Amino acid sequence: MDIVLDFFDDYVGDALYAKLHNPFTTLLASQSSPSEWAAYAASNLTSSPPPTSMKSVTTFLAELPGLNTLPRDSILRQSLSLYVITYIGILLLYFGVATFSYYAIFDHRMKHHPRFLKDQVRKEIMFSLDAFPLLDLLTLPWFVGDVRGHSMLYDTIAEGPFGTSAAAWKPWAYMIFSAALFLWFTDMCIYWIHRWLHIPMFYKRLHKPHHKWIIPTPFASHAFHPVDGYLQSIPYHLACYLFPIHKYMFIGLFSFVNLWSIFIHDSDMLCGHPLEHYINGPAHHTLHHIFFNCNYGQYFTWADKVGGSFRVPAKGDDPMDAVLAIIEAKKKNGGKITKAEVLEIVEAEADAASRQTSDDDTEIALEKKKMQ
Ligand SMILES: [Zn+2]
Ligand SMILES: [Zn+2]
Repeated sequence: MDIVLDFFDDYVGDALYAKLHNPFTTLLASQSSPSEWAAYAASNLTSSPPPTSMKSVTTFLAELPGLNTLPRDSILRQSLSLYVITYIGILLLYFGVATFSYYAIFDHRMKHHPRFLKDQVRKEIMFSLDAFPLLDLLTLPWFVGDVRGHSMLYDTIAEGPFGTSAAAWKPWAYMIFSAALFLWFTDMCIYWIHRWLHIPMFYKRLHKPHHKWIIPTPFASHAFHPVDGYLQSIPYHLACYLFPIHKYMFIGLFSFVNLWSIFIHDSDMLCGHPLEHYINGPAHHTLHHIFFNCNYGQYFTWADKVGGSFRVPAKGDDPMDAVLAIIEAKKKNGGKITKAEVLEIVEAEADAASRQTSDDDTEIALEKKKMQ
């Protein structure tokens, strides 16, 4: 984060902080001025002067240093700046990428699914906006620790663990290894944190709000209880305190995982691709939102396979089936459909899904056998 903070200070921070004088110093100076007091007394003949205690509070506040006096390396200035930078960053990322994904990838017919909530997109956005301020605050110590030199992020190849090695390939090989380690470590931790968040005691207090979106849109990607969102983000921050990662590599990886979180919420079912057995994509996460007890992973399926919670996406699971059935039924009935008919379609969808569960059990058993 120090790269981002330096950039902010160079182009915005220094000029901005220079203007942030202590307003109480100005206020006290204006009140102390004889001409001001004379004008005040002339226009308020019946008023009594401000009480002494009020004056002393103003004097106390006026003696505090203004933000303009804080040097770049002041922990207060770093904390304030990082809070603002992170807040703006998350807003840009959320609205930029989720809007793109919503219009370019998300199939808008999905909004006709009976489990799609009324006004859901607005609710997802409002929920996310409510969560961001606290989420940002909870994340702040990790970023402040990093800019104050406590993380294991390194600036240049020479500062890396193999930077002074005679073999030029070693630092580059380490960079590839650290990226793989980052993905493996964060995927494994998020799997278990997410799974523990489904323990009823934690689920109802923290994780349930995210499962309000049974048919999620990309805007659901950050619609978490802030503590839930924070717990699931801890592995990303912890990783750069546990093993060396190049700073630019970390920025790239951190951006990638945020993009991935948005991408897996587009409710798309990419059925039949061989990679679905290894990569946890939108189809897997859609199934997690529908069935709650499968596919807790983030990018790979291995943790779910080891933990016995893997469910391979299959045609019978696709929520689009119910949407298409409803659209078809409406066409037949001149654009109308009764609640009973919708219910029948949803039940048929659930039946198809439960038939798939037994297939999944077989699949998990086979995968486990392969790993032994
Ligand atoms: Zn989700
Ligand atoms: Zn969950």
